Order: sequence, then structure tokens, then C-alpha cells
Amino acid sequence: MEYLKDNLEKVYGRIKKACERSGRNPADITLVAVSKTVDIETVKKAYSLGVTDFGENRVQELKNKIPLLPEANWHMIGRLQTNKVKDIVGKVVLIHSLDRWNLAEEINKRAKAIGINVATLLQINISGEEQKAGLSPDDVEYFLESAGALSNIRILGFMTMAPLLENPEKARPIFRELANMKNKFSARSYPNVDLKYLSMGMSQDFEIAIEEGANIVRIGSSIFSEE
Ligand SMILES: *Cc1c(COP(=O)(O)O)cnc(C)c1O
Repeated sequence: MEYLKDNLEKVYGRIKKACERSGRNPADITLVAVSKTVDIETVKKAYSLGVTDFGENRVQELKNKIPLLPEANWHMIGRLQTNKVKDIVGKVVLIHSLDRWNLAEEINKRAKAIGINVATLLQINISGEEQKAGLSPDDVEYFLESAGALSNIRILGFMTMAPLLENPEKARPIFRELANMKNKFSARSYPNVDLKYLSMGMSQDFEIAIEEGANIVRIGSSIFSEE
């Protein structure tokens, strides 16, 4: 698994360079290694190489992998069905994909039942592509204003996915807009809301996301793919 070490070194190097270009501190960036479809032995190897945080987009994968590597921080980054919330509440450190009010209610209910607070990010569909999950930017204000009713949820920031573009530079305005939204709404104060995270950037565009303010990047293929 020499490739894994090489890939990680490259990714860390690219994160560092993007930070240098934009006057940021690499220590402020959390790398979430997206381990969907990656077998647990490889995930464990990445953990032994210093990766602490892993992201999955399916509940079943989380249910399979968390018990085999409970010491890692696990993130839910994919679309979450309300009937599966109970399977991950209390087991993941952050749900990046809170994208609708009834999901928030369900997470809150399950969190309350076991007496914990659940950390979430609002997933926002900045690009407006119809097939993309995410709250419309127009609905964010109302969501944040209403969060006070959800005693066991904390909204800690925003997440977005840029469209797949031939030129990742074209994703820059999307990342910039999400960063602007974070600045705008963190200047106000809402109960149960503390906007400190921006989860944006994947293998194809994470450097641009970092330049625009991302402090969580979700990287899969650049870490785990063998070529
Ligand atoms: C798969 C996935 C990623 C990582 O994508 P790569 O292009 O493999 O880096 C990031 N975020 C989400 C939500 C994903 O589903």
C-alpha cells in the first residue's frame, strides 16, 4: 500500500501550498478522507498513516465500518433518509448533509432520546443544479432562525458540492458564495447555531475551496485511488 502513503503526502502537500497561497494555516484544515467503496483494511492503513477523519455517503457503510475502527472520527456526507437517522446518531462526529427541515426534526428527536447534541452542517445547493441535494440559498435564513426549536441539534456551518467541471477554477464563485453566506450569517446570532465550518472541496477542486475559505475538505479518489 505504498501508493496510499504517496497519495497522502501529495494531498497534504497540495493543502499546504493552497494555504500558503491564501495566507492560511494548514492546521486549521480538517482532511476528511472519503472512504466510500474502500475496504476496511485500507481505511485502517490510512488511519495508521495519521488520517483521523473519514467520510461515508451511505449509512450501511458507516454501520459496517465504525465498529471496526471506532477510534476514528466518522462523518456522514451523503444524502440521509429520515428512517436511517437512528442508525448513525451518536456514532458520527458530524452530519454534513442536513438539507431539509423534517430531517432536522428527526435528528433532533433521536438525539434527544439518547440525551446528546448532534453536530450538523447545512448542505446548500449553491449551483442550483436540480439533481443536487441541498437547501436552496433562499431557505437558509429561515432554517437558521428556526433552529432554536431544535434543542439537541447544533448547526456548525455549511457544506456544498460544486458541479463536476472540466476546469475546477469555474467552481470558485460557488465556494466564494458559500463563504460569503457564512460571513453574513455568523454576524447574527441564532440559538443552536455556531457557524464555524465550511465543508467544501473534493479531489478535483479542494485547493480552490481552501483558497476561498474551506476548513473541511472531503477527499476520496486523490487519496485512495491506486493510479
Ligand atoms: C465522493 C464524495 C466526495 C469525494 O469525492 P472525490 O472526487 O473522490 O474526492 C466528497 N464529498 C461527497 C459528498 C462525496 O460523495
